[in-house]
Amino acid sequence: MTFDADTLRAWDAQHSWHPFTPMQQYLESDPVMIARADGVRLQDTDGNWYFDGTSSVWLNVHGHRVARIDDAIRAQLDQIAHSTMLGQANVPATVLARELVSIVPDGLTRAQFSDSGATAVEIAIKIAIQYFANQDRPEKRRILGFEHNYHGDTLGAMAVAPDALFHWPFIDMLPDHPRAPFPLRMDVPLVTPEMTCPGSAMEPIRTILEREHQQLAAIIIEPVQGAGGIRPAEPGTLRALRELCDSYDVLLIVDEVATGFGRTGWPFACTAEHMTPDLLCLGKGLTGGYLPVAATMATERIYETFLGPIDARRTLYHGHSYAGNQLGCAAALANLELCADLFPRVPKKVHHFTDAVRAFVEAPYAGQIRHRGMMLGIDVVADAHEGIPFHWSRRAGYAVADAARKRGLLVRPIGSTVILMPPLASTESELAEMTSILRGAFDDAAPTLEAWAKAEVATS
Ligand code: PMP
Repeated sequence: MTFDADTLRAWDAQHSWHPFTPMQQYLESDPVMIARADGVRLQDTDGNWYFDGTSSVWLNVHGHRVARIDDAIRAQLDQIAHSTMLGQANVPATVLARELVSIVPDGLTRAQFSDSGATAVEIAIKIAIQYFANQDRPEKRRILGFEHNYHGDTLGAMAVAPDALFHWPFIDMLPDHPRAPFPLRMDVPLVTPEMTCPGSAMEPIRTILEREHQQLAAIIIEPVQGAGGIRPAEPGTLRALRELCDSYDVLLIVDEVATGFGRTGWPFACTAEHMTPDLLCLGKGLTGGYLPVAATMATERIYETFLGPIDARRTLYHGHSYAGNQLGCAAALANLELCADLFPRVPKKVHHFTDAVRAFVEAPYAGQIRHRGMMLGIDVVADAHEGIPFHWSRRAGYAVADAARKRGLLVRPIGSTVILMPPLASTESELAEMTSILRGAFDDAAPTLEAWAKAEVATS
């Protein structure tokens, strides 16, 4: 079946409702429709090629149409595409659980599969709360999150990261969880294990723990806040939280949905800090960006509290129809094989990326630049010297993103923040091309931004 580009565009406009997309603005724009890909480039239905500067929204690891992963999926298709994990096992999910245990930090011995980052987080939150309930401590049911965090769009994930702008119709439905200031550190591209977090960064968290630990089941943190606009944590934060959680009998959930599988320059951000969380959420890069598989990893100590006679009601009654999907698990296994070769090469790529990022210091209307590993966030601001932001409704990042698209790079901004997240396997020259296109896009967008900035500064 083939359809021409105009027919597809019309059907998209008539029948699709895109996720996390203001549809009116989408329909007024000239949306991209992807037809195929090659390596780190995507081609649209009009035949234009673009660099995949978002890694297809933070998932892609080795590029597209990777022979090893394609073949693994085809081989699995010859066996079976899907059977349930509810009360029974399957071959690739079993092997994948074992492989994951071998690459995540020591002590995480159990994998529960689901199908998205949000579900991995929901499962982690429910495990944390039921862990204490199973031990007759049902009062420990609150989760401490961080300001500017994001853990997915399902209700539980939203509840630990409420956002007045995005979640206003639902705010009243969300249970109230406490939040702490996030220990931001934007200028460390690559964390090393000996780096430590200043004690002052942990003080607000210690204060909340001191006051509320009797009600707290867990702390949840992203090592780099992604949807918050690429906000990396102080190196050493995860280890410091580990110590605090241990002393207050609170579990630590690390959400590595975005940072896992090499994104920070390490296999996992936890690996860089030589620490093990109680629960680890994985998704996105787990299949190399091919298929929707997510995993919630847990320690044996936690898992054991869910065992017992049936009438002890210790079971975690949570599951998704496609959990442990065989095609996805086969893709994930091939991804892990490729990662074994890729991971040692990522730090060098991070160094190249770091060099290229310097070019944005002089970019017009570029404000704060935040960078960790292969994640970059640049605020587009009305006045960098005075620190005057654009009003969020301008969606100023799109002025730069639209210009980048014309030059052959797709990026998806978050509000006023332009985000560049190249596939990890991008070569040195591909990285140089992507960053130079984005730098040029700031120049191209400058006249539009200048007009907006005049209006903003006049009203500020
Ligand atoms: N956690 C983090 C840190 C994320 O970045 C995301 C997605 N951007 C999610 C959870 C949710 O993942 P998904 O979109 O697969 O539900």
